[in-house]
Amino acid sequence: MATTNGALENGQLDRKPPALPRPIHNLEVKFTKIFINNDWHESKSGKKFATYNPSTLEKICEVEEGDKPDVDKAVEAAQAAFQRGSPWRRLDALSRGRLLHQLADLMERDRAILATLETMDTGKPFLHAFFIDLEGCIKTFRYFAGWADKIQGRTIPTDDNVVCFTRHEPIGVCGAITPWNFPLLMLVWKLAPALCCGNTVVLKPAEQTPLTALYLGSLIKEVGFPPGVVNIVPGFGPTVGAAISSHPQINKIAFTGSTEVGKLVKEAASRSNLKRVTLELGGKNPCIVCADADLDLAVECAHQGVFFNQGQCCTAASRVFVEEQVYSEFVRRSVEYAKKRPVGDPFDAKTEQGPQIDQKQFDKILELIESGKNEGAKLECGGSAIEDRGLFIKPTVFSEVTDNMRIAKEEIFGPVQPILKFKNIEEVIKRANSTDYGLTAAIFTKNLDKALKLASALESGTVWINCYNALYAQAPFGGFKMSGNGRELGEYALAEYTEVKTVTIKLDDKNP
Ligand code: ADP
Repeated sequence: MATTNGALENGQLDRKPPALPRPIHNLEVKFTKIFINNDWHESKSGKKFATYNPSTLEKICEVEEGDKPDVDKAVEAAQAAFQRGSPWRRLDALSRGRLLHQLADLMERDRAILATLETMDTGKPFLHAFFIDLEGCIKTFRYFAGWADKIQGRTIPTDDNVVCFTRHEPIGVCGAITPWNFPLLMLVWKLAPALCCGNTVVLKPAEQTPLTALYLGSLIKEVGFPPGVVNIVPGFGPTVGAAISSHPQINKIAFTGSTEVGKLVKEAASRSNLKRVTLELGGKNPCIVCADADLDLAVECAHQGVFFNQGQCCTAASRVFVEEQVYSEFVRRSVEYAKKRPVGDPFDAKTEQGPQIDQKQFDKILELIESGKNEGAKLECGGSAIEDRGLFIKPTVFSEVTDNMRIAKEEIFGPVQPILKFKNIEEVIKRANSTDYGLTAAIFTKNLDKALKLASALESGTVWINCYNALYAQAPFGGFKMSGNGRELGEYALAEYTEVKTVTIKLDDKNP
């Protein structure tokens, strides 16, 4: 029997992925309030904010707008749930794992609802929300469910008459701040290891996309997590986000978002209580295509690598370096792909590209496209918005891009593929590394020696060889340099959510 990505090992029967269901039309949004102590609360200020469907630009609903007093209330609840002797602290580790599995079961049950909400709120294709985002969430919960009762310390040989061992203990109240591009998935990457290790959590979803996080609150309650273990405060960055990052009773924070805000989070963490910080930030990721690569594969992976999720990925292949012998052919085939990319209604199962998330991002992308034209890159296709269609942008390919152009240096976060040319491996290593970012890199070659040389030389937290966006719950993910600190996913994530305590016992050798 085949095992895929450890699903079998983690308590799930080998299963075929479900067929794509129909999205749920006229879905009523039931959960719009602040989730604290397994209950729904209005904001202390009485304020609400609207969330919009970026595809139609219509308001979906209003959500309670949290602020510092709501964060304080959530932290109080999370602290109480973490007290020694509380139901959560008394729960044995196996049962903690079982709760995570049950949460994954409910996500499977409500997968179509969650994918519909995610598509409404982000504009991402329903196909991707259902098969990629939700699949990733469910597997991540199951993976960490399996770890809950396997978090073990070590015995350490020291002196003869000494017993020394370590205990891996939960940190306490953990904060999480998440972005709008993968609202549920980024939240689950934080929530699953935090709960697996026995912590309690205060979460802030991005203001553009709060709906799936709040729905998850309802599932947390239904599964029976004790009140206060998970608390969700929707709201804005400078209010709720800042209150979480600077809260003196939050012992750890995990953040995914821009490098700029990541710096603020780290500053606030150090100014308040030196809380531990995990950051997953931006990227300007090199994708290196050697002349000996399988060109069909390279073209397709580079295309998906940059256009997936409307280009709104920190992993986006936004600097494609192609060896000169195959450059023109690579550009020709990439343009063909881009021109065929189905852009449109994200609820249509054939659609692969929806709208950008909001006006601010849309304007920023168009401004960068203009800079590419003005700085002398060759516009091969796209290069503008789709007329009369709100926030939709044509898949855009630029060739003849050079390292000094803004489209080769700045994170675009949109459907724009800049293609650069290189002559030899030493040169491309140097150019690929000449960025402050270091999140991911990809290499396309049939030569194993070349692949491994590049894999060791590239300064990035992830290197993909002959594939792209190959992310697994079992494998750590995070950045070098200004792409972040710490690792999410995999066994490494457990270290981010536990404190190590060293216990040393001096034996009384006079009294054996
Ligand atoms: P983007 O530029 O892609 O919107 P951001 O880094 O601005 O990404 O946002 C990611 C998350 O950080 C969101 O949940 C946002 O509300 C939050 N955020 C924004 N500003 C702050 C801040 N000053 N402190 C804490 N969180 C913030």
